[in-house]
Amino acid sequence: MAQNHGPLVYEGKAKRIYGMNEPGEVMVEFKNDATAFNAKKKSEIDGKGRLNCLLSAYFFELLESEGIQTHYRGLISDNWMVAQHVEVIPIEVVLRNIATGSLCRETPVKQGTKLKPPLLDLYFKDDALGDPLLTESRLELLDLMSSDRRAELEKLARRVNDVLSHFMQKLDLLLVDLKLELGTNQEGQLLVADEISPDTCRIWDLRIDDPRDRILDKDRFRQDLGGVAESYEEVLKRVQEVSSRPRHYN
Ligand code: UDP
Repeated sequence: MAQNHGPLVYEGKAKRIYGMNEPGEVMVEFKNDATAFNAKKKSEIDGKGRLNCLLSAYFFELLESEGIQTHYRGLISDNWMVAQHVEVIPIEVVLRNIATGSLCRETPVKQGTKLKPPLLDLYFKDDALGDPLLTESRLELLDLMSSDRRAELEKLARRVNDVLSHFMQKLDLLLVDLKLELGTNQEGQLLVADEISPDTCRIWDLRIDDPRDRILDKDRFRQDLGGVAESYEEVLKRVQEVSSRPRHYN
């Protein structure tokens, strides 16, 4: 890594965040640690930090090219990026194009059902509470944001899902669902933060019919299917075939 970082300001399950000399910016280190089921299952996967960092950089630049603001500033190395410091809204925004995962565990909706329009689910980001699903009235009760911001958040998340879905479709990849974290910068603008990677998206390979073999995301880890890094690498390979290398931060 070319640049010195400041003090560690936050360590999450998959990333470490450091301060920088430049106020308003942070350095993000992507770790190889893998966790699932609220960190009840843990492992380390060689190369995962690099893969998620690079893929996030490509996806953030794609969103930017479509006029969507993100916290991303540029790469420092394959597993470090610089990002704008944002105040993260403690909500996990999930967009679902195809029903699977918790939606099918918690409701009678059948696996594989196409969701048109995509289903938006909001979860309260709190590990101790197990990231509970939020209702609109609980969202209001918790006073997490104004109704205008709530509307803005949904519009932004739906655009992100549309842009990424179309892009992946061209690569024979199906974006099944994704989780976004949004934040506000010092000017109060809403932007896409955190990461966008096979850790936070479900991605299926449209070139493969077998329902297990087609999985290219963290479900390989959750379900002990093996080949986690190899499947993330396949996503990266397809993205790289059609994209120019992400910019270097300077
Ligand atoms: N997701 C995530 N972090 C979480 C929970 C979910 O990134 O803490 C992502 C997950 O990878 C999937 C989407 O959000 O792409 C929807 O996940 P779901 O609610 O189906 O939960 P799961 O089945 O993973 O428990």
